[in-house]
Amino acid sequence: MSGRLKTILIVGGGSSGWMAAALLSHLFQGLYKIRLVESEDIGTVGVGEATIPAIKKFNELLELDEAHFMRLTKGSFKLGIQFNNWDRIGSSYIHGFGVIGQDLGWLRCHQYWLKMRLQGEAGDFANLSINTAAALKNKFMPARPDMGDSPIAHIAHAYHFDAGLYARYLRTYSEERGVIRTEGKITDVALRSDDGFVEAVTLDSGERIAADLFIDCSGFRGLLTEAAMQTGYEDWTHWLPCDRALAVPCSRSDNFTPYTKATAHGAGWQWRIPLQHRTGNGHVFSSKYMDEAEAERILLSNLDGEQLAEPNRIRFVTGKRKKVWNKNCVAVGLAAGFLEPLESTSLYLIQSSLIRLIPLFPDGGSDQAYIDEFNRQTDFEYERVRDFIILHYKATQRDDTPFWRYCRDMEVPATLQRKIDLFRVNGRIFREDEELFGEESWIQVLLGQGIIPQGYDPLVDVRSEPQIVQYLGNIENVIGKCVDVMPSHADFVARYCDAKAGA
Ligand code: FAD
Repeated sequence: MSGRLKTILIVGGGSSGWMAAALLSHLFQGLYKIRLVESEDIGTVGVGEATIPAIKKFNELLELDEAHFMRLTKGSFKLGIQFNNWDRIGSSYIHGFGVIGQDLGWLRCHQYWLKMRLQGEAGDFANLSINTAAALKNKFMPARPDMGDSPIAHIAHAYHFDAGLYARYLRTYSEERGVIRTEGKITDVALRSDDGFVEAVTLDSGERIAADLFIDCSGFRGLLTEAAMQTGYEDWTHWLPCDRALAVPCSRSDNFTPYTKATAHGAGWQWRIPLQHRTGNGHVFSSKYMDEAEAERILLSNLDGEQLAEPNRIRFVTGKRKKVWNKNCVAVGLAAGFLEPLESTSLYLIQSSLIRLIPLFPDGGSDQAYIDEFNRQTDFEYERVRDFIILHYKATQRDDTPFWRYCRDMEVPATLQRKIDLFRVNGRIFREDEELFGEESWIQVLLGQGIIPQGYDPLVDVRSEPQIVQYLGNIENVIGKCVDVMPSHADFVARYCDAKAGA
């Protein structure tokens, strides 16, 4: 880039392209000329329908009205993810968003629960999280921050929505804010001969589009960052061996859950995402351990509604681009990297990349310091999310298939091993800097995956046993009463954001 930045070209119109277009057009308010090129012939990946609560921050930045957004994307609410058959066949736990119980003194609630568990007197850990307790009863309501100390003030929610409708929604939003969309297939990417910066793209129509900054949202191929610039890719398949997915919608069942389901199979797992008009399903699996026909048979025999389309077949390599921002090209979405959707983190990683870009936005001069800082923060974020996902595979007692034996026996990154080792002793967990998943998330997944600490924090013994019993009992009691008065998820959606009511 030389001189002041004036033009931005976004390549790709999937969720990442339109999320980029929406945020940049909203924030910069016409300061830059923003164009987006997409090709209907090539299409989008067509999945990406479960989110985490951070998406609310993105929607707030765009100043979206939640009910309107939910109606138009035919969305449902999400309180967490249920993991079935991960630790053992038949085991089940929920990673609920938000807090667990209430801290007491210096300690998190789980420490007191661990003591009672060691004595064989603990209740169900699920009853200490309002998100989990409500999810298990198919109840939902958003947090009421005005309710002070009540668990209802601390409900944390995210969304499930239709990926196609989401992109369409953001497209309308972006076009209203001046983004110019061009339909066409990019057939050539020109790099500057002296420094390798991207200069322009050429469409099949012959049109040549130059820009100062390029946002590569072109999907797995990374049309600019990889195919043209050869940035390089860090492959994490040895830690996350799944490399294929089959996705298929089915008709909606009456079981309208306010949570995503992730059910482990012999060489991967199956998702279930309830929307208002259909249920999304997919089987993520490792082609080294299972062939596609078998994966398809398993997927289709585990639908709880009528199959509505042929399966969409997707191949991927888990990992990330060596430099997510390279010269004047920032890769976003699948072009930047991919971590399987087990914890619904991909749309979040798009959002966080975009939000990270704003305070480091290039000005067209010497931007290398910004680029290095952006890449440092991005690497940290991807690696911490990667560790959290690996945990689900590593911490298992399953040994029924070669896939699970491989996962159980594999070496994991030292950063993850440290967390597991610390927790195993007496349940201590430390959030590292601004890593995405907080202590509550780690605790629920570690316990859910069968890592039960040998002891508990010595500070627990400052309280007498009757005090602890009363404290845990109170939390369970209050949460139980709150859940009892919450509406069902189906009733809440019908009242608040029924898609049939239109825009
Ligand atoms: P794409 O959707 O692939 O879009 C690429 C765009 O680039 C398209 O518009 C295409 O037309 C355009 N393009 C490509 N080449 C050219 C060309 N030559 N000329 C012009 N245009 C071109 N994320 C979540 O947060 N939650 C989930 O539950 C979840 N589930 C997933 C399940 C699976 C199996 C997979 C694979 C991903 C999942 N994701 C999920 C990730 C999520 O789908 C993606 O992060 C998201 O859809 C963004 O994709 P994208 O926009 O980067 O790429």
